[in-house]
Amino acid sequence: MPAVNWKAATKVYCGSFFNQFYPCLLCGKKSRTLLCPHCMVLLTPLQGPLCRCSLPMPGADNSQPPPLCGRCVRRPPPFAASHSPLIYSHPLDRLIQRYKHHGDLVCENALEQLLAGMPLPWPDTDVLCAVPAHWRRRWWRGFDQSQRLATRLSLLWQRPLLPALLRQHATASQQGLKRTQRERNLRRAFQCVTPVTGLTITLIDDVMTTGSSARAASRTLIDAGAHQVHVWTLARTLPHKHTLDAHNG
Ligand SMILES: [Zn+2]
Ligand SMILES: [Zn+2]
Repeated sequence: MPAVNWKAATKVYCGSFFNQFYPCLLCGKKSRTLLCPHCMVLLTPLQGPLCRCSLPMPGADNSQPPPLCGRCVRRPPPFAASHSPLIYSHPLDRLIQRYKHHGDLVCENALEQLLAGMPLPWPDTDVLCAVPAHWRRRWWRGFDQSQRLATRLSLLWQRPLLPALLRQHATASQQGLKRTQRERNLRRAFQCVTPVTGLTITLIDDVMTTGSSARAASRTLIDAGAHQVHVWTLARTLPHKHTLDAHNG
């Protein structure tokens, strides 16, 4: 008869006794949920007035259609609208980084906790489509975070997920690149591999930074015959205040 591992047994027993509490993924304090209420209130919602690219437009009124930022005036985005419920700032950035770059899939459950209360902003959506990563990056990370996010949203919003886009080129990491460099990287980055004619599509990605990926992916779908494309990202990176003024100037 194998010897009883009392240490492990005690751990299991105590674990089951105390398992209604977890350390919060962000601050480590005991909580009934993966993110404690204190950290939940630190997540900053992105509120209007906003440009079509979800960039805040300070001083603008909530008119319909909303005013465009300087960049969108010069080059209107191919997507009809975008929506990011949260600002990509502390502490959400830590959670997404841990998930995306360190493959910590527990963070995905915490993100799902956030998604639960988020409605689909465009009820006329026919299908959801993830902004895909190149297979090499997917292989390196072991998963495609946008694809996984889109799968969860597809269940939540009761819309089919269409694998319409393929990333043709392994674009260099977009982090830290200027917008013009990002756009050069992304030219012809996507290919549409399923029929999308006449469909109203909501594109899903985790974070919108400059919007260059969203523009390139939307352009590919529109060129392939999609009726309309909307862009939903969990979070939006905001430029610093002085950059924001330059954007809108
Ligand atoms: Zn916390
Ligand atoms: Zn804009």
